[in-house]
Amino acid sequence: MTSQELKDFAKNVVGVDAIGIAPIERFDGAPEYMSPRTVFPGAKSVIVFARRIIRGCYRGIERGTHWPSYQVFAYSGLTKLVHQANYRIGRFIEDHGYLSVPCPPAATLKEAGPRGPVPPGGKYPRDINVSLRIAAVMAGLGEMGWSKVLLTPQFGPRQRLGLILTDAELEPDPIRIGRICDRCKLCVRDCPGNAIDRDKGNIITAGGVSWECNDLKVGKCKLTHFGLNRTTSPHFVKTFPGIYLPMEEQGNTWVEGWNFGHSLFSAVPTWKAFSAYPIAICGARGCIISCMNHLEKRRRIGNIFRHDFTDEKPWRIPEKPPRGHEDHHGFVYDPENPEAMSGGVKSDWY
Ligand code: SF4
Ligand code: SF4
Repeated sequence: MTSQELKDFAKNVVGVDAIGIAPIERFDGAPEYMSPRTVFPGAKSVIVFARRIIRGCYRGIERGTHWPSYQVFAYSGLTKLVHQANYRIGRFIEDHGYLSVPCPPAATLKEAGPRGPVPPGGKYPRDINVSLRIAAVMAGLGEMGWSKVLLTPQFGPRQRLGLILTDAELEPDPIRIGRICDRCKLCVRDCPGNAIDRDKGNIITAGGVSWECNDLKVGKCKLTHFGLNRTTSPHFVKTFPGIYLPMEEQGNTWVEGWNFGHSLFSAVPTWKAFSAYPIAICGARGCIISCMNHLEKRRRIGNIFRHDFTDEKPWRIPEKPPRGHEDHHGFVYDPENPEAMSGGVKSDWY
């Protein structure tokens, strides 16, 4: 099995949009808790592939008219397609007598993952997670933008990734960084969660190269992503018209944001109608929509369309609710109101 045979199968038979290969040596300096070698000591190559997010999935959220398309086709449905591709490419590899170890993403495993004592005798911990984005850079698929999202030369920020470790020694692809992100910082400007830092960055070093990404506030991103940010979540505002949750002041972790989203999810009828679990409400307006729009206009990526995605200013709902119940028509306790009705009967609550 050569690299070319594997890539031809992945692209032409399975239908992935991009695929790259890194030799395992590019991960030599990786901490043990993120190293592919900790998962599979015999790994010789790391294969990373991408399936593109259909650009039109962003239209409904950008217009404020339709949310399910992004959730279904850019999140849950596309993730299933990545897993299917992972399985089919894995079968191809194992048909040639090599092991295929798929590693799905679990970026916050360190925060949310298994708990317990450190394993004795120098054994490895149980929460190993290989970063898909770093692995994608190592496999020559693209670079990480200032936003920390992977940008590819074809689709910019618009893809989801799959990763396979194998003991097959495959011809690698060169690392290509510093070609796509021009530090326009539109991702910062248009992130409704104030999650992307404009100036503060972190240096990532791997495979003999270094690059800088913003110091992302994943907790703020999680709250916004799950629709707990008033400015981009009419569903939240409708159910909790008087709640003020200024994103700038939140200091929660990713897991706190996750748990908060899950605890409030069932209270919001629209969300329950969309899905059985919290969904992508933000629509990645800064880190994907604005970035994609910019990279297309500047012709910095290959997948160009006949019409610009949008030139409209993104819509926002005021972050601060109106002053009181009487202004925002929230759920009011008012026994003095003779006209208060609930479910057709006189009620002290309305
Ligand atoms: S929006 Fe601009 S600064 Fe942000 S990742 Fe994209 S190209 Fe880089
Ligand atoms: S998903 Fe939304 S909140 Fe999170 S970084 Fe992207 S634009 Fe900001």
